[in-house]
Amino acid sequence: MKHCLICTNCKKKHKPSIFLLRCDDCNSVVKVEYKDFPQDKNSMMDSLLSSNSTSLGDGDTPIIPLNNLGEKLAHKFLYAKLEFLSPTGSFKDRGANVLMNVAKNFGVNEFVEDSSGNAGASLAAYASFMNINANIFVPHKTPDAKKEQIRVYGAKLFPIEGSRNDTTISAMSYSEGNDILYLSHNLSPYFSEGMKNVTYEIIQEGFLFDHVILPVGNGSLLLGMYSAYEALYKQGKITNIPKFHAIQASSVSPIYNYFHGIDWDISQVLPTLASGIAVSNPPRIFEISDTIRKSKGTVMTVEEKDMIYWKKYMSENEGLFIEVTCSAALAGLNKLLKEKKIEPNEKVLIPLTGTGLKESK
Ligand SMILES: [Zn+2]
Repeated sequence: MKHCLICTNCKKKHKPSIFLLRCDDCNSVVKVEYKDFPQDKNSMMDSLLSSNSTSLGDGDTPIIPLNNLGEKLAHKFLYAKLEFLSPTGSFKDRGANVLMNVAKNFGVNEFVEDSSGNAGASLAAYASFMNINANIFVPHKTPDAKKEQIRVYGAKLFPIEGSRNDTTISAMSYSEGNDILYLSHNLSPYFSEGMKNVTYEIIQEGFLFDHVILPVGNGSLLLGMYSAYEALYKQGKITNIPKFHAIQASSVSPIYNYFHGIDWDISQVLPTLASGIAVSNPPRIFEISDTIRKSKGTVMTVEEKDMIYWKKYMSENEGLFIEVTCSAALAGLNKLLKEKKIEPNEKVLIPLTGTGLKESK
């Protein structure tokens, strides 16, 4: 057995399984633990699967300098990783790749999933080419283009009235009522494994970053990227782990408040255009907070008007058409620079997580 699932709370080890979303002793979320931590993408897939993996061609996204932005913010070393060039237009394809390959390996032929849109589209695409039936639940306010994209791949779409949390509740109840596997990408330990590949690619290309700034809702990208950095650092393969800064919309900010020790509850949620990070109850909040602390990074919130501003700025000045969720990281970068949390000679990476094309009305 090349990997197992370990409880993030009581540390109980469980056998690999696509069906286990929580520890059977304490009900906490679980994560993947490897016998030997993989050194690259291929060895990771070998450790997770007993058969060969298949892919839609996600990953290996370009890293480019943001020169005009650098000039505007008076900081030379700003880089973007163009995750929105993934097959379905978002970084979620990396997670969908691993999750769907593991599901196929376990003989899954149908599942239920809930998403704010992008993850649902990714899973629908992977399910389509792996001949698996997908039932995708999304909030009814999800942009039409994302809903249409999920339908295009042949998935059954369920738009749900109410909040993002109501969507999760509906998906779970449909799964129970119809005896179909609930394959939550937020709870499954396999989804964020795909995000480790972002770190493998950065290191293989020889990039050394001091800061990574990213929008955080459920934290899969942050958790996946950091764990690969940490493991490679412990093995002596790299000499530095970047500081990870999580950016949330001020309208939905559970991680910000938990990290800074401020009371917060779901009744404080306000509407936000950053639907990809509008997660009021992230299941991995403790793990996310610990990870940011270990990396010596921070959590910030940004306002709606700033996200809209930076989305427009990136299109008009860098030729990069990104979604509002993604522009939260740019608004966060601006704040981090103003607060002098980034030194003048430090290199900054911003993964541009999702395309703006799917947000157009
Ligand atoms: Zn446990």
